Amino acid sequence: MDRPTENLTGAMAPPVWIETDCSAIVHNFKQIRRWVSPGVKILTVVKANAYGHGILPVSRALVEAGADLLAVASVVEGVTLRQAGIAGKILVLGQLLPDEAPLVVHYDLTQALGDEQSARALSAAAVRFQKTVAIHLKIDTGMGRYGVWHEEAMPLLERLTDLPGLKREGVFTHFSSAGQSVQVSEEQMARYNRLLERMAQRHYAPGLRHLANSVGLIRFPESHWDLVRTGLLLYGASPVKENQPFMLEPALTLKSRIRFIKLIQTGQTVSYGGTFKAERPTAVATIPVGYAHGYPRTLSNKAELLVRGRRVRVIGKITMEDLMIDVTEVPEAAIGDEVVLIGRQGNERITAEELAMHARTIPYEILVGLSANIPRLSAGAA
Ligand SMILES: *Cc1c(COP(=O)(O)O)cnc(C)c1O
Repeated sequence: MDRPTENLTGAMAPPVWIETDCSAIVHNFKQIRRWVSPGVKILTVVKANAYGHGILPVSRALVEAGADLLAVASVVEGVTLRQAGIAGKILVLGQLLPDEAPLVVHYDLTQALGDEQSARALSAAAVRFQKTVAIHLKIDTGMGRYGVWHEEAMPLLERLTDLPGLKREGVFTHFSSAGQSVQVSEEQMARYNRLLERMAQRHYAPGLRHLANSVGLIRFPESHWDLVRTGLLLYGASPVKENQPFMLEPALTLKSRIRFIKLIQTGQTVSYGGTFKAERPTAVATIPVGYAHGYPRTLSNKAELLVRGRRVRVIGKITMEDLMIDVTEVPEAAIGDEVVLIGRQGNERITAEELAMHARTIPYEILVGLSANIPRLSAGAA
C-alpha cells in the first residue's frame, strides 16, 4: 500500500530516556582528584553499567580524564570494556569462577581474589597462555562477603607464593559501615593495618594498599593509603547526608514527555486502589514511566518531578508503565511537554538522593535500578 513519504524519525523518539553528562562525571573526578593527596591513585568504579549511566561512554571519559584503574564487578563486564577498545588497568572486584580464569588472562584483566582455588585456576590459565596475570589480594576485615579473613591471610599468601604466573599488585579490604559507624570502621582499619605490618615483617611487598570507598574517602582520610575506590561520588550523588568537601555535579537525567492530560472532578480517584482522591478539580497528566522502568512503586503519592521548570507531585499508585502527576498548578502544561524525573529543569533539580529518601532506600539503588531497557544518550565528553 502506498503511503505518502514522511519523516518518521521524530515519532521514533523513545517515551523515556536517560541523558548522561560525561563532562559532569569528569568534573566530579577532578574534584576528587584535588581532594586526595597527589600520590594517591584513583580507581573509578563502573560496575552495574556505570551505576546506570552507561558503561562505555563513562569509562572512555574517565580513562581520558586520567583515572588510574577502572573497576567492574564481573569478568563479563571487563571483557565488554576490552572489546570496546578500552585499554588500561581493569580490576574485577567480584569473585572468580575457575572456568572464567582463561578470560581474565586473555583479556589482561586484573583479578581480586582471596582464596586458593581461584588463585590456582588463574595460575594454571596464565601458565597455559604463557602470560602473567595481576591480582589484588582481597581481605575480609568485617564485610563478610568475599575475601580471606584477615587472620588467615598470611598462610594464604604463603601458599600463593609458589604459584607461577601470578603477579601480586595490591592488597585491599572493604568498609562495611563507613557511613554508619566510626567504631566499626576503625576496627576494620586496625585489622588491615595489623595485616600490613605482618606482611612487612615477612618481607611481602603489598603493592597497592587500598580500603576507601566513597564514604571512606570523605570520612577517613587515614584510609586513603595508595589508592581510593570511588563510585557514587563520580556520578554526582552523595552516599551520606553531610556536606561534601567538594561540589558534585549530578550526571544523570531521566526524562519523558506528557502523553495525556485530563481534568477530574472533586472526589474522583486516580490509579489502582484509589489512593489519591481529588479534593478539588484536578488536572492529571500521565507520564509513560512506571516500575517497569525501575521507577520505584514506593514513590507513589510521594515523589515530585519537573514540568515547565516547576515541581509537581506523583498522585496515586505508580503502575507498571505509567504514572500520574497533578499539574493543576501548571496550567500551561501540554501534551508532548518534556518532563524531568531525575535531574535539572530550569532552576529546579530532583536528585537520586531525594527519591531515595521517599522510597526509603539509598541513591545507589535508585540509579542502578533504572531499567537497562531505557535508552541512554551520552553527551559532554568522549
Ligand atoms: C562498589 C564498590 C566500591 C564503590 O563504592 P562507592 O560507595 O560507590 O564509592 C568500592 N569498593 C568495592 C569493593 C566495591 O564493590
